[in-house]
Amino acid sequence: MSRTKLRRRIRFISRRLRELRAIAKGIISTRHPIDVHLIPMRRCNLSCAYCNEYDDFSKPVPLPVLAGRVAKLAALGASIITISGGEPLLHPELDGLIRAIRQRGMLAGLITNGYLLTPDRIQRLNGAGLDHLQISIDNVMPDDVSKKSLKVLGQKLKNLADYAEFHVNINSVLGSAIHNPQDAIVVAQRARELGFTTTVGIIHDHSGQLVPLSEEQSAIFEQIARMSRRSYSRFYIAFQRNIARGQENSWRCRAGSRYLYICEAGLVHYCSQQRGYPGIPLEQYSRAHLQREYLTRKACAPRCTVSCVQTIGLFDNWRDPQTREAFDRVPAAQTEVSGSEC
Ligand code: SF4
Ligand code: SF4
Repeated sequence: MSRTKLRRRIRFISRRLRELRAIAKGIISTRHPIDVHLIPMRRCNLSCAYCNEYDDFSKPVPLPVLAGRVAKLAALGASIITISGGEPLLHPELDGLIRAIRQRGMLAGLITNGYLLTPDRIQRLNGAGLDHLQISIDNVMPDDVSKKSLKVLGQKLKNLADYAEFHVNINSVLGSAIHNPQDAIVVAQRARELGFTTTVGIIHDHSGQLVPLSEEQSAIFEQIARMSRRSYSRFYIAFQRNIARGQENSWRCRAGSRYLYICEAGLVHYCSQQRGYPGIPLEQYSRAHLQREYLTRKACAPRCTVSCVQTIGLFDNWRDPQTREAFDRVPAAQTEVSGSEC
């Protein structure tokens, strides 16, 4: 067995034990965030046509500020911090942020477009203690919608297969903005060949409502779903399958409590698509806020496309009916198009 494979095996066992501890904690107690998406910079080196989560100018948040946010999240009892963006690999102190998360006893995840993943960069992520990495690949050849393409990223995936000691998930994408739905199968097959887990995400056009997939897209969705049987993807698939059919999901969104989205300004939001709610600075966020949002019904939940929050919802869908109303109608942000990573 090569040294990388041996280290990968040892880290798998360590990570799985910490994941099981986080799952047990999430089942036993409802009073802490399970997953937090933390934005260290909004800037991205790409400009995918469907995305509303990036700009091309903003500066990185300094590491001491990020470390303070991590400390506050640890004090609230968070289990997982997923670093997102923008493109987080553009942040010059990303490794320090990952170390800060791990030193506080939390699992560290990263969502990236993969463009900057050289062997050296991957080994530095290993050294920092990264647990999970996800890349969304939108097509085989770059086009006017997206440059997150298998042709461009093929060598980056090979680098991950050769050097990464952390878990890698490749998300392929279906939806009206994607020109060639068959590409999603090619992407998922390549990911499986390289030993990664796979998921399939669905993106929408600017009408933003749940539009059922075509017959061809639905068949492709089911084919990829059959390939994606490892890890959390079974839960992900159940949620996505309803979206694919244009059906509403019945669930209790616990955003603002069990899931938090912390923007680059340090404000707490429900999720990437509901920025502004509740919009409270993280340093002022308390257990009383967590409890209030845990019991708050979100009007946008039935038609929600944010599958990572739905996955966290599985911890609590069976308990504690929500008795407080957040807003009377679905806010406008929910009818816009989002990034495809979550
Ligand atoms: S989807 Fe990701 S890679 Fe594309 S513009 Fe948005 S943040 Fe950047
Ligand atoms: S868009 Fe989805 S995840 Fe965000 S607040 Fe609404 S229901 Fe929750």
